[in-house]
Amino acid sequence: MADFGGSDLEAFRADARTWLEDNFPKSLRGDPETLQALAMSPAEATGDWAVWKERMGARGWGVPTWPAAYGGGGLAPSEARVLQQEMAAIGAVNPIGGMGVGMFGPTLLEYGTEEQKQKWIPDIVTAKIRWCQGFSEPGAGSDLASLQTRAEDKGDHFLVNGSKIWTSGAQYADMIFCLVRTDTTKKHEGISFVVFEMHQPGVEVRPILLIAGNSPFCETFITDVKVPKENLIGPLNGGWSVAKRLLQHERSGMNGSRGGGVKPDALGVIAKKYVGADDQGRLADSDLRTRIVMNEIDQKALQLTVRRAALEAKGNSGPSAATSIMKNANMKVAQDRAELTLEFMGHQGLGWSGDGFSDEERAAVRSWLSGKAGSIYGGSNEVQNNIISKRILGLPDLTQSH
Ligand SMILES: Cc1cc2nc3c(=O)[nH]c(=O)nc-3n(C[C@H](O)[C@H](O)[C@H](O)COP(=O)(O)OP(=O)(O)OC[C@H]3O[C@@H](n4cnc5c(N)ncnc54)[C@H](O)[C@@H]3O)c2cc1C
Repeated sequence: MADFGGSDLEAFRADARTWLEDNFPKSLRGDPETLQALAMSPAEATGDWAVWKERMGARGWGVPTWPAAYGGGGLAPSEARVLQQEMAAIGAVNPIGGMGVGMFGPTLLEYGTEEQKQKWIPDIVTAKIRWCQGFSEPGAGSDLASLQTRAEDKGDHFLVNGSKIWTSGAQYADMIFCLVRTDTTKKHEGISFVVFEMHQPGVEVRPILLIAGNSPFCETFITDVKVPKENLIGPLNGGWSVAKRLLQHERSGMNGSRGGGVKPDALGVIAKKYVGADDQGRLADSDLRTRIVMNEIDQKALQLTVRRAALEAKGNSGPSAATSIMKNANMKVAQDRAELTLEFMGHQGLGWSGDGFSDEERAAVRSWLSGKAGSIYGGSNEVQNNIISKRILGLPDLTQSH
């Protein structure tokens, strides 16, 4: 794919601006934060948000650099950046997301057959089908390769039996990408990567209530589910490599600013409401002020590093083991921010419900609680540290972690 510069890029910018002006509904302008929440919400899109989603899906601009042959935008990276800038300028948020876009799609583009790409990518591009991830099991989290969900070869199909846990969004998903054991005599080399429908007899989903008060994930029980052989992604017993690649894509989506509730640059302003200001108008508590500034510096340094890593990766083969560093750094900054927020809110930062607490205070508590998951999902901090030591620092391999 050619990368454009100069006047070509400016011509693209003009086209993109016109298209966005014509297609991004006026009613959605001016409140990107609400749109961001809509983009993350598992609820079915309605009204003008549904219109915007349909238009972006049809144009392929939700996945701007994916091949046009499967409905993607077919844009060069430089054009995708321009598109992003033009969207940001009018407060437009990408409505096409989820695990299909962030995890399974890019993995399928790399490992899938032509038929598989034709079959599944177009519905990911338009976000028509929702996907979930069936990796973890009760006895296989960090040591994922211990998974026991069994897929027996029955000629034209696999018969799958077992159970998965922490399956995010399984209660809303249409399809699952799932790791199964196809050879019981080997560990990593006995795993295959399959996909199958969630809405069928034999798939049972039970939501789990999280400490933050919602049910973002589920137990998923799989009993005598027939999976057609054409739903095997990558080689038989070669699913471990496919899974590792998918996890890199998953972690590369975790390097923005997440968790923590309060926007990074708003921390000092909100803190002043609780702690007050000194005679120079600065946050009165100098120790707290220093720690807030340190957090903001860490946040900015992280953003710049993520941008630099993305530029360096340009032209290479996508995300690498370095995503583990970004994931750990991002979760640390976000969790520190959440801790600082509760600290300056004092008693008001302990509210769960009731009139004694503002919406902002209740949201801060829930974000603090749900943010705890950030150093667990996608592989815990310790597991990322193992990957960093092994794959980046080249230290001896003493673990079997993913
Ligand atoms: C919010 C959330 C969403 C999730 N969504 C999904 C999903 O959609 N699909 C899915 O398949 N999974 C999902 N997970 C599961 C997640 O990937 C696992 O929770 C994670 O990999 C840890 O596994 P575990 O929970 O079994 O903990 P364990 O593996 O039992 O780990 C327990 C503790 O031991 C530490 N530990 C384990 N092994 C080592 C080691 N070798 N070295 C050092 N320390 C070690 C861990 O760091 C951790 O602190 C989700 C988890 C959360 C919290």
